[in-house]
Amino acid sequence: MRYQFREVSILLAGATGQPGQRRFFISAGTPQSWVRVWVEKEQLQTLALALEEVLSVEAREATRDTQGTETSPEPLETPQSEFSLGRLAVGFDKERQRLVVYLHGQDVADAEQEVLAMVHATAGQAQNFSRQAQQVCAAGRPPCPLCGGPIEPAGHVCPRSNGHGEFPA
Ligand SMILES: [Zn+2]
Repeated sequence: MRYQFREVSILLAGATGQPGQRRFFISAGTPQSWVRVWVEKEQLQTLALALEEVLSVEAREATRDTQGTETSPEPLETPQSEFSLGRLAVGFDKERQRLVVYLHGQDVADAEQEVLAMVHATAGQAQNFSRQAQQVCAAGRPPCPLCGGPIEPAGHVCPRSNGHGEFPA
């Protein structure tokens, strides 16, 4: 394990680049020590949903009330490390009432896909992150006039037209 953040004040999702060419990332840590992890959009969506799931199952309402939700923007300084995500896992530390995100590297030579960073977040932080991640994923795609679904840059096969219609981006 290279980076273990038992407390974070930075936990955010972002994207850079033009629509259709966007690269997604997660930033986590503290202003003194933080990492930027490049992720696929699907991975970001998966993480957002996994956090929601853990929140609904594990985190009690009382937890949400008493835990801080504040996070800072990404610092201007460069991150301590950057890597591309291989896979991820989400857990819950009952004793500390923290959601735990395990971020594995993408090194194909390493069959175990070493956990490069472990991020502990309060329920409030996780909830905010999940919402923000879903907004980032949805941004930049206009809604389909028929079904309301997002029109991807590659086009959109609309369920309202039984899959026959295809709207250009
Ligand atoms: Zn549609």
